[in-house]
This record gives sequence, structure tokens and C-alpha cells, in this order.
Amino acid sequence: MKTSIFGLTLEQLTAWLLDNGQKKYRAEQIWDWLYIKRITEFSQMANVSKECIQLLEDNFVLYTLEQSVKQESADGTIKFLFKMKDGNLIETVLMRFKYGLSVCVTTQVGCNIGCSFCASGLLKKSRDLTSGEIVEQIMKVQQHLDEVKKEERVSHIVVMGIGEPFDNYTNLMSFLSVVNSQKGLAIGARHITVSTSGIVPKIYDYADEGLQVNLAISIHAPTNELRTRIMKINKAYPIEKLMDAIDYYLEKTNRRITFEYILLRDVNDHVEEAVKLAKLLENKRHLSYVNLIPYNPVDEHGQYQQSTPEAISAFYDALKKKGINCGVRHEQGADIDAACGQLRSKQIKKADKASI
Ligand code: SAH
Ligand code: SF4
Repeated sequence: MKTSIFGLTLEQLTAWLLDNGQKKYRAEQIWDWLYIKRITEFSQMANVSKECIQLLEDNFVLYTLEQSVKQESADGTIKFLFKMKDGNLIETVLMRFKYGLSVCVTTQVGCNIGCSFCASGLLKKSRDLTSGEIVEQIMKVQQHLDEVKKEERVSHIVVMGIGEPFDNYTNLMSFLSVVNSQKGLAIGARHITVSTSGIVPKIYDYADEGLQVNLAISIHAPTNELRTRIMKINKAYPIEKLMDAIDYYLEKTNRRITFEYILLRDVNDHVEEAVKLAKLLENKRHLSYVNLIPYNPVDEHGQYQQSTPEAISAFYDALKKKGINCGVRHEQGADIDAACGQLRSKQIKKADKASI
């Protein structure tokens, strides 16, 4: 199968062109057509020779994602469901904030981490997305914006859709290089956040990359006993190991880190846990921000409910009292199931029903 041209970093494309008898400057020309002018066919590249266009057509594809469903929420959030070439469905969400437009991308089909509260983990990973497929999600959303309102542009990215990005590390790195490149989409590294459930060896690798891209850690519980109950990955990478890796990251990068904490009623939302969490983060308070996430109910995980507003504010107050920077994440697109993995699982269920 031909590979997606969106999957190549500028360096990779340059090397490929040179290997194939083309001039080096072609790479930047091609990128200008791909990411600035946003063509949909290679033949639209007016200043590129016929021979070079033919070469690209013989070896690469442009768009491979097909939009399957688009749901728009009252708050302006748009959820896209895309069908990939192999028929698999993935979802991408566009969110509107005061500071800009943020896109949440998917990195895998399903997720092997299998956290007990998450809709994505219900489906075992069937494959990693290629870097091209991850970049294409941003391009498709940008195309949508280009169609409806010319001047709007994707300014932020969160890698928080379906999948564990650090379980698809190489493709994630190519993706980051393409979207961040000044010659490509030029989305600032500080406007991009990668979220991980805590794959410890990859946190060390990531720290060594020297990127300015933000890191978020799904912590969700302050003790091993509770965290293992909620996220079985904690057995492989317990809190002490995770904290060591985070300390290494902080030392290397001196960048602020976000801790995501999903609030599950009567499970991890007591003041007692807030106090333990504050203790856990005590020595890195100045570089930590805790994002409290109200749980978005998932049909299949009926054992969990959303915390009460009182419990959420008590948890927040307890963290604040201990000097921890924190905030409660405002739900985006709740009316269209914009929580991690939910649209996709609903569509699959519908499709399953239809085929019975
Ligand atoms: N696999 C990565 C990134 C994708 S999940 C990770 O786990 O960090 C992105 C965030 O959405 C995580 O913090 C995850 O815990 C959260 N999440 C998953 N299911 C959710 C739900 N039902 N309600 C609210 N947040 C959820
Ligand atoms: Fe995977 Fe993240 Fe969902 Fe856990 S929360 S199952 S790591 S997508």
C-alpha cells in the first residue's frame, strides 16, 4: 500500500526526494502546497514539475480518511468520526476556547491499557495509527474550517483521543514534528499537549527529546492500591516509578507538567485523597498543575458515577489549601458524547446492531 505523504517529516521527505533524483528545494515547495495552500490532489502543485508530481503519485497518497459522521454541539464543539482505508473508525474532536481552536486526536484503534472507566479501553487495540493518519486528522479539521470560515485556524492540539500515545511512540514523534514545523502547520509546541497513562520508559525517552511540547500524566489516584484498582497499568508502572520518571522529566525540561485526575464518585473523590495527592506532588508543586476532570459516564462502566458538585469543590479546595495549582475541566460537547472514545463505541454498536 502507498504511504501517506502527511506521515513524512520535512527531513524524511527531503531525503526521499534526493534519493529519487529530485532537488532538495522541492521538499519545501511540496510542504507549502500541502500545509499552507492545502491542496487535495498532487496535480494542483503548479510550480512542481510533471515528473516530480508523477513520482509522488506513484509512491504516496494524500487524503485517506473519509468523514463518516460529524456532530456539532451547542457550545461549538465538533466531533468527527473518520473511516480509515481499512474500514476502522476513529474520532477527532474540535473544541473552541477563548484562546483558540483545539483539536483532540486519536493515536490508536482501541487501547490496550484498558483503564476501568474509559470507553476507548473497551476495544482492544487493533492497530497503531500511522503518523500520516494522525496528521491527517488535523488537516481534515482544518479543511472543514477552511470551508466554513476562511480565517479560522487550528491553534492547539491535545493528544487525548482514543489510544495511548506513548504506546505508538515513533509515529507520535513524526506527527509532532510535522504539525510543529515552521514550514508545515506551525502549531507552537507550547500549544500541544500529549497525555499518557504513565508508560514509564517512554517518559524518560520523551524527556530526552528536548521538545517544548507539554506533557500530561493521567494520575487519577494518589496511592498504588487505589490507582491499580482504577488503572491496571499501575501494576507495571507503580506510582514511585512514575514519580521518578516525572522528576527526571522536570529536571531535564523545567517545564510545567499537568496531572489529570478523573473524579469518580465515592471512589477517588474524598478530601482524604486530595490531601494524599497534594503530599505526592509536594516537592514539585511549583511545576505542577492538577486538572480535575468530572467523569463522563460510560454505559459499560456502570460501576462509576460522576462526583457530586460538592465533592468536586471540596476536593478542589483541599488541593488549593495545600498550595497545589489546580482547576476543574469544563466539559466540552457533553451533549454529543465528546468524552474519550464514546462516539466511536456508539457508532460501532449501531453498526453491529444493523448487521445482526
Ligand atoms: N491514553 C492517554 C490519552 C487518552 S485519554 C491517557 O490515558 O492519558 C485522555 C484523558 O481522558 C485521560 O486523562 C483519561 O483518563 C480521560 N478519560 C477517559 N475516559 C474518560 C471519561 N469517561 N470521562 C472523563 N475523562 C475520561
Ligand atoms: Fe487507554 Fe487512556 Fe482510555 Fe486508559 S484512559 S484506556 S490509557 S485511552
